[in-house]
Amino acid sequence: GSNPLAIPPRKSSDKNTSHSLTGVRKFTHLPLSPETQKALRECKYKEMTAIQRATIPHAMSGRDVLGAAKTGSGKTLSYVVPSLERLYRMKWGKDDGVGAIFISPTRELAMQIFQEIVKVGGNHTFSVALLIGGKDLEKERNAVNAMNLLCCTPGRLLQHMDETPMFDCTGLQVLVLDEADRILDLGFKETLDAVLANLPKTRQTLLFSATQTKKVSDLARLSLKDPEFLSVHAES
Ligand code: ADP
Ligand code: MG
Repeated sequence: GSNPLAIPPRKSSDKNTSHSLTGVRKFTHLPLSPETQKALRECKYKEMTAIQRATIPHAMSGRDVLGAAKTGSGKTLSYVVPSLERLYRMKWGKDDGVGAIFISPTRELAMQIFQEIVKVGGNHTFSVALLIGGKDLEKERNAVNAMNLLCCTPGRLLQHMDETPMFDCTGLQVLVLDEADRILDLGFKETLDAVLANLPKTRQTLLFSATQTKKVSDLARLSLKDPEFLSVHAES
């Protein structure tokens, strides 16, 4: 059948600066901050994976991205690196509040993203919070507005939006929806809709999924603006 995620190809005249970075294979050949380059070196990340090569140039140019690639293909760095670089370029600081939100379906996955951000973003001065159920809500409440990057499950994020006085994400620059297919399979569609309604419209959105489904394409239509659709089937 037809690909439910099919989005008409962009005209070549639409191409922006991201074009010059397509084909780059190594992290060292990307125009990344010294802080990120140092961390990638320390983590021994050298060659980009296929999904990273496909998505990072577009995400770094500010485009919305829908990235599809199987589990284990390296999707985390595909959104963590561009998110860090965007805030770095904006000179995001401790008084600027929430700059990036990473939503994933489970506590475990949110924790993995948090750990990867701490590793790859550790040379930056950004503060990072893990907002998941089962942790002390009051402690989170006191800290959450001072945090720059939030790693969360949909339910916990909405809980803060509804219940934490002064919770403010009006300055949000980047929204990441990871494992979008699983978020929807686990029944978080309404929660996600409520979260999206609380977020500023002018932002970059990066949506990643292991599979391409109708539900994911519906979510993409709702949450992405003129996205670059990138699907990687096999590791190369
Ligand atoms: P996915 O989210 O697509 O399932 P992950 O982002 O969790 O995949 O990455 C899977 C594994 O590959 C992780 O252990 C990660 O450290 C490793 N990895 C990711 N990118 C690279 C890279 N460019 N070079 C080497 N290892 C990588
Ligand atoms: Mg992942």
